[in-house]
Amino acid sequence: MSTFTPFAWNHCPICGSKLDPAHDGQSDRPHCTACNRFYYSNPTPAACCIVTQGDEILFVQRSVEPCKGLWCLPGGFVELDESPEDAARRELEEETGIRALDLRLLGTNAQKSRFGAVLVIAYAVDSWEGEVTAATDAMDAGFFTKTNRPELAFQAHRDLLARFDALGDAGHPLLPL
Ligand SMILES: [Zn+2]
Repeated sequence: MSTFTPFAWNHCPICGSKLDPAHDGQSDRPHCTACNRFYYSNPTPAACCIVTQGDEILFVQRSVEPCKGLWCLPGGFVELDESPEDAARRELEEETGIRALDLRLLGTNAQKSRFGAVLVIAYAVDSWEGEVTAATDAMDAGFFTKTNRPELAFQAHRDLLARFDALGDAGHPLLPL
């Protein structure tokens, strides 16, 4: 595990001036005097899907870094112009070729990452259409039973999957969005 180095703003992305710490009323933040603007570092939102087929769950094998070759839940980063639900649907279709017919919010998980931190929003999908075909960031995709799941690339996905398993074992249904 590499040492965590927080993402930091050093120069203003608008005018290019060097940023200096200034108090925004709460704490010291990088500030551009020329633009009179503060810069904030926040977790980057991502969305993922736990797609079920009976007692099996769909995983994809990553074809890109980080963690190329390892498996994860289908998902990716939320674009500026879309909702987390739209991002989950888009990433699922891009990586596996299937279309979610329902999404139910499972929960969220935040982890430190190479970007600083990532906030993963997970949805359960038990109704979908299409044929599973790996594409874009995925080199393979398939359904796995609980006892033969592959090693997962991301701690957030491991934690969210554990939450999903715990809810299922306790018989707690997730509400539709
Ligand atoms: Zn500036």
